[in-house]
Amino acid sequence: MGIEHFAAGPQKRCEARDYMKIGPNRAIRGRSRPSGRYHRAMFSYRHAFHAGNHADVLKHTVLIATLDHLLEKEAPLTVVDTHAGAGLYRLDGDYAGTSGEAADGILRLLGPAAPTATEAPLSDALERYLAVIRDFNPKGGARIYPGSPFIAHHLLREQDRLKLYELHPTDARTLDANIAQLEAGRRIAVLREDGFGSVTKFLPPPSRRALVMCDPSYEIKSDYARVLDFVGAALKRFATGTYAVWHPIIPRPEAHDLPRRLKTLATKAGKPWLHATLTVKSSKIVTDETGATHRPGLPASGMFLINPPYTLKPLLQAALPQMAELLAQDRHATFSLDSGV
Ligand code: SAM
Repeated sequence: MGIEHFAAGPQKRCEARDYMKIGPNRAIRGRSRPSGRYHRAMFSYRHAFHAGNHADVLKHTVLIATLDHLLEKEAPLTVVDTHAGAGLYRLDGDYAGTSGEAADGILRLLGPAAPTATEAPLSDALERYLAVIRDFNPKGGARIYPGSPFIAHHLLREQDRLKLYELHPTDARTLDANIAQLEAGRRIAVLREDGFGSVTKFLPPPSRRALVMCDPSYEIKSDYARVLDFVGAALKRFATGTYAVWHPIIPRPEAHDLPRRLKTLATKAGKPWLHATLTVKSSKIVTDETGATHRPGLPASGMFLINPPYTLKPLLQAALPQMAELLAQDRHATFSLDSGV
């Protein structure tokens, strides 16, 4: 049973998108880039069914909070995205009105009030995540959803580097074309290669400061073991890097074991770790009155970090209860936050 079996629609996660080519865009550099300077046409590819869902809210909130901390130091940072996807997604494409998962993700948070039960203001990490999404949507709403490559690029500075791996030919082409229009030159590399394969030979980067983000599709069972092998090998070469692994929480043994085994890896290496999970609904298969069975769609996911910034835990302590409350799809919604050395 792969993760695709939990998808509520026919499309796979991070599926290929068409790209409408345009002429070169203006260079966009620096952290405080004014919003709305991306060329409209660069987003003209097919809607991605899963973009902006609850798993993206968790993953990208953690990514932004982690980068914000790492970018406080002047020394150059390298961000490696082992499974980059297409980079940008349209939420108002073919599927938006009917079944796009953003409706139960980012769009809930951008609703008119997005109130919490306690009427408490949104936590700093969620506010920051929404601010980044708003930067891509200067006219309001969330027509555009940035994937991890564009979120990272948005935050990185002149001295930083971004290395993107994407194996799917169509997604790689789309990513390539999108990145090309940023005219970022050597600051961003797009590699149409196996993200588990050649990354480790680039570690550590010359500045010895890096965030390695590992976000596979888990469409094939072997991805779970490959994540472990990859993180193990990377840690051996570069023990002080920050590693962030997204994982689905679904009823299959490999999925259950992955965070436990990552924890063992980190502990054996004597490195601090943090594990945040967000559940939005039950994982039970339901049978309706006609006797037909329905799988629930992805019910939960987690982010496992090795060498997380010390600032991440308090930020997530405030953000996770709000995510669980605001993104709940049934009474099983919950979260967890563990850490250790
Ligand atoms: N990290 C992206 C984000 O947050 O916006 C989403 C990535 S998506 C979950 C996973 C991507 O990995 C897909 O685009 C898929 O084509 C790609 N992929 C699958 N196997 C790969 C591999 N071995 N190496 C590199 N990319 C791979």
